[in-house]
Amino acid sequence: MKAGFDVVVIGGGCAGLATAIAASDLGLDCVVLEKAPKLGGGSAISSGYLWIGANHLDAAAGGTDTPEAVTDYIRYVGAGAVDEARMAAFVAEAPGALRFFEAAGIPFRLSPRIDHYGMAPGARGAGRIVDTPPFDAGAFGDAVLLPAGPLFRVSGSTLPGGANSPALWAAAEAAARDQPGLRGGGAGLVSRLVQLAIGRGIPLLTGVAVERLTVTDGRVSGVVATGGIIIEARRAVVIASGGYESSPELVDRFEALPGWQSMFPGSVTGDGLVMATEHGAATQVIGNNLSVFLGFRNPDEAPSGVAPCRLSGTQELPSPHTMVVNRHGRRFADESFFQAMAPALHHFDVVARERPNLPCWLIFDRQFADSFSFGGRPPGAAIPSWVQRADSIEALARALGIDADGLAATVRGFNADARDGVDRAFGRGQSAWGLNRYDPRTTLGAIDAPPFYGIRLHPTALSSVGLLADAKARVRHVRGHPMAGLYAVGNAAARTETGSGYQTGFSLASGLTFGLIAARDTASDREAN
Ligand SMILES: Cc1cc2nc3c(=O)[nH]c(=O)nc-3n(C[C@H](O)[C@H](O)[C@H](O)COP(=O)(O)OP(=O)(O)OC[C@H]3O[C@@H](n4cnc5c(N)ncnc54)[C@H](O)[C@@H]3O)c2cc1C
Repeated sequence: MKAGFDVVVIGGGCAGLATAIAASDLGLDCVVLEKAPKLGGGSAISSGYLWIGANHLDAAAGGTDTPEAVTDYIRYVGAGAVDEARMAAFVAEAPGALRFFEAAGIPFRLSPRIDHYGMAPGARGAGRIVDTPPFDAGAFGDAVLLPAGPLFRVSGSTLPGGANSPALWAAAEAAARDQPGLRGGGAGLVSRLVQLAIGRGIPLLTGVAVERLTVTDGRVSGVVATGGIIIEARRAVVIASGGYESSPELVDRFEALPGWQSMFPGSVTGDGLVMATEHGAATQVIGNNLSVFLGFRNPDEAPSGVAPCRLSGTQELPSPHTMVVNRHGRRFADESFFQAMAPALHHFDVVARERPNLPCWLIFDRQFADSFSFGGRPPGAAIPSWVQRADSIEALARALGIDADGLAATVRGFNADARDGVDRAFGRGQSAWGLNRYDPRTTLGAIDAPPFYGIRLHPTALSSVGLLADAKARVRHVRGHPMAGLYAVGNAAARTETGSGYQTGFSLASGLTFGLIAARDTASDREAN
């Protein structure tokens, strides 16, 4: 293989693959270097939704979205942490990126998913979230990382109810049997990107970890990869290596969330952040990071390794006959709206000198176990032995290390509210997001049927810190200027285009958009030379 390319892309997730495809279509010669044995990173185990305001698919369906409304919404969600120029670039370029990758061969479709913050200026009920229909990736689907379980084959927007829908499980299991190559969700999106990259002859080298950047005459000029191999980048190195969620050391350094578990593959360890800062790259912290969720590892999903933390916020937490409590046995937010939980996890009690809501536990009863999905198992499947259980709430509390009287009192109050169909403490199910998905009464159910179950939930989040990139995706030096020849896209870059808040689809849309922007800037740089 030759050892020089116009563009060297570090990381084979959505952002890296999109960058490489765009660069290739713009006439640049590029390579993707992927550390893991399979392509896809966090993108491949994601749900695969992209949030793109004022897009042409919505317009064709009669939508009347505008860039102004999109901007208003992002500014609200961003909560003061957006970079106006990056946000403007995202708003202006994302619809074009969608068309670009559609024209390249990805059949995007509108998803019924909605804006999380229905109360925000510019919010819309639907029309901004897109995904890709499942498709048969055939043999090359094996080149892509897959999440545990069969659901990725059908993807979430295909059937309502998500993991709690028995029909979705039946369809996914049938697909696993009859069409083993079927890929939906993030695995489907990545498989389609891989198909496009292969079609363009882009080398996708797996098991190749980039260890450092090379710099020649003040310009990033290439990379040093596994085994000391030097690969020259004639135009640009694009860092698309994701965040640092799976690096305990960087998580300890940058995040203040005790008990953190990573929801990403083990290869996502902040390598790009380290290798760029070594040469003076600036970093940016997304303060008040609300891309924080609760979940737990299902040890059965990685019997000989570490399973990614499985998100509970759209599966167990909104289901009836469940609640989340802290060590005092008290609830602290509307469990059915995962964004209501996020700030409560950061809460600090100045007198007790503790975070009252971490650790916290999911509590449920037999009624949940009999009908709903736990830990990525089909609805109603037996609750695994690694989940604590007891015949009384007090005994369960003692076994988990929760205040027993506190939990018993909370359950009594919650059950009375559940029977009335209203959560007087936290308005469970009544957020705009919740109302769109559930009748509040369907998310409320008494916890009164033994056995009672409980499991510790862990915080998991998108990295708060990333490389500071400008509106052209160029990495900024600590002294302010763009670093010649260096770009950062996807989660490797700080989320300054969308700021503090979380909205499903921001990440993948940003990866696609800034990947295209980086490729264009590199191509125009070549023309200027
Ligand atoms: C369960 C779940 C559901 C999600 N759903 C959505 C959703 O629906 N929509 C959305 O927008 N976001 C979603 N997300 C978030 C989204 O998955 C990520 O934000 C996104 O995948 C980041 O893409 P990326 O390309 O930047 O990084 P990744 O996809 O993580 O790719 C980075 C790649 O770089 C590789 N790499 C790391 N270091 C090196 C190195 N030194 N050399 C070479 N390669 C390296 C990694 O192995 C990895 O493959 C979800 C996340 C999870 C966990």
